[in-house]
Amino acid sequence: MGQGADDVPVIYLHEIRRRYIQGEAPLTVLDGVKLALWAGQSVALVAPSGSGKSTLLHIAGLLESPDEGEVYVAGAPTSQLTDGERTNIRRTDIGFVYQSHRLLPEFTALENVMLPQMIRGLKRRETIKRATEILSYLGLGERVTHRPAELSGGEQQRVAIARAVANAPRCLLADEPTGNLDPGTAEHVFHALMQLVKATRVAMLIATHNMELAGRMDRRVSLVDGKVVELD
Ligand code: ADP
Ligand code: MG
Repeated sequence: MGQGADDVPVIYLHEIRRRYIQGEAPLTVLDGVKLALWAGQSVALVAPSGSGKSTLLHIAGLLESPDEGEVYVAGAPTSQLTDGERTNIRRTDIGFVYQSHRLLPEFTALENVMLPQMIRGLKRRETIKRATEILSYLGLGERVTHRPAELSGGEQQRVAIARAVANAPRCLLADEPTGNLDPGTAEHVFHALMQLVKATRVAMLIATHNMELAGRMDRRVSLVDGKVVELD
């Protein structure tokens, strides 16, 4: 792991096809998607609702399987892996952030960030140390004992980001992470994401409708007729 990491995309989607059956008619959402995500690079995925952004993120994150094509993680194909092997890659290599924070309401911020590490089998003491560090790094050092309901929308989303990077993933996938936030709060959350790309060299793909934020990322892509096209 990690050797020659920069020569190989962190995630490479090759000729991905995905169709859904809606009623009688099949709907082809992704129709030959090719996309490479690189360490330390932030990519904005800007496309209209219904164009397949969430589908693409779910496939890149091994949450959903394509009908055709291959998802490579750090150069290794994933289509022939068992469910258990895919789950392991998801736990260690991929972080996911959703539009709503999806934190566990009965747990504190700290516990929410500890959980993915504990599931991976790290010792409780290590998980506390790392969760505290990440939350402090994201400006939440004073909020570790708060439950989600006691946090603002922006704080909740930053805890969700901390949880997503708790296991130091190679790739961070964010599905409209600022979509529910007012502009000032969105800025704060966006800043947290960009800070992590710089500090950890994680590869980041953010689906967003926010052109201003997209303009500040390293690269912009869209989905047109089920294919990824580069913008600019
Ligand atoms: P976006 O995130 O860009 O809004 P999605 O990836 O969520 O787009 O959806 C793309 C299209 O696929 C939409 O038309 C949606 O209705 C359809 N779709 C998504 N998931 C399913 C599913 N599980 N079953 C049937 N159709 C789906
Ligand atoms: Mg979506």
